[in-house]
Amino acid sequence: DSVFANIVRAPEDPILGVTVAYNKDPSPNKLNLGVGAYRTEEGKPLVLNVVRRAEQMLVNDKSRVKEYLPIVGLADFNKLSAKLIFGADSPAIQENRVTTVQCLSGTGSLRVGAEFLARHYHEHTIYIPLPTWGNHPKVFTLAGLSVKTYRYYNPATRGLDFEGVLDDLNAAPSGAIVLLHACAHNPTGVDPTLEQWEQIRQLMRSKGLLPFFDSAYQGFASGSLDADAQSVRIFVADGGECVVAQSYAKNMGLYGERVGALSIVCRSADVASRVESQLKLVIRPMYSNPPIHGASIVATILKDSNMSHEWTVELKAMADRIISMRQQLFDALQAKDTPGDWSHIVKQIGMFTFTGLNAEQVAFMTREYHIYMTSDGRISMAGLSSGTVPHLADAIHAAVT
Ligand code: PLP
Repeated sequence: DSVFANIVRAPEDPILGVTVAYNKDPSPNKLNLGVGAYRTEEGKPLVLNVVRRAEQMLVNDKSRVKEYLPIVGLADFNKLSAKLIFGADSPAIQENRVTTVQCLSGTGSLRVGAEFLARHYHEHTIYIPLPTWGNHPKVFTLAGLSVKTYRYYNPATRGLDFEGVLDDLNAAPSGAIVLLHACAHNPTGVDPTLEQWEQIRQLMRSKGLLPFFDSAYQGFASGSLDADAQSVRIFVADGGECVVAQSYAKNMGLYGERVGALSIVCRSADVASRVESQLKLVIRPMYSNPPIHGASIVATILKDSNMSHEWTVELKAMADRIISMRQQLFDALQAKDTPGDWSHIVKQIGMFTFTGLNAEQVAFMTREYHIYMTSDGRISMAGLSSGTVPHLADAIHAAVT
């Protein structure tokens, strides 16, 4: 008999499981709105032209070898990533107060950041928004942090529970870590306004709470890299410390290349360099050093002003297509007189709409319309096209009437 005979089958990942179910469905009208990846108007995955161009350059450069990167990754990539999120003229960068290490996309950056905090930071409680990306509690718990939630989303308004945010952060113990979605909150699509961010900042600084930003959608929300980084930048501008996990999965379409960065902004250059020395001790036994290809693509693009510009144009086109899908779905429901207020579809930000549909309605739409999404009613707007909006509107209409 197998030595593994009594292993019980684990449940499918709630998000990735949606795609597994979708793949099994033989219907020609099936629609996958579960996956958090961009699709073209034709429903196809997209590799950006600028990424193809960078890859071509890398292939043609015969001086490139496959040697190991340092533990902290590609130096150019790290510098350019810090500039991208903190701004080109960020004093924190100029004063060498930022340490940036290349990690395995957003998830790996969160994990390395969390393991570092669990080892070296005095407070082990991290507050995450309710709800949040389903992987957050698992990443932080397994890294050795203790996870608590703060109120974030108000189902009644389908907007931000701002009082709830302030009350819960105010009640958090001083020094606690707070996970903040830098923009395009997943799954709700609800972000604080800049004024609200400023109030959150003041409260957090006055209580000594440590901000841990998850930036998985920079540029993908509004189409502007700078606008989507404002939340992070107001926290860095006050001179205080913070942790930031960046992903290039969505904004550069590099999903499977697993390219991201963890930055820790410190009070002084001396602290930053000691922090970096300890980050290496976290990374080395975990995966030794990060992969070279994706980081080289990013560095090639960000180093070159023409290529950077081309990227921002392609990025804006993706953001605009998503925004246009919001409008088209909203218009389709209006045209059908679907009961209820659907204005949140156009108000919410980023890749996802938190529809307000419940698990039963989602199950109905999957059964009767072959539409796949997570059971919390989150749909990926990036998976929609002008051609499939009517089918989704029919399904939503039928589910709520
Ligand atoms: N954080 C949030 C909020 C996300 O939505 C995602 C991806 O869905 C990630 C982090 C991590 O993505 P990746 O590890 O692919 O960069």
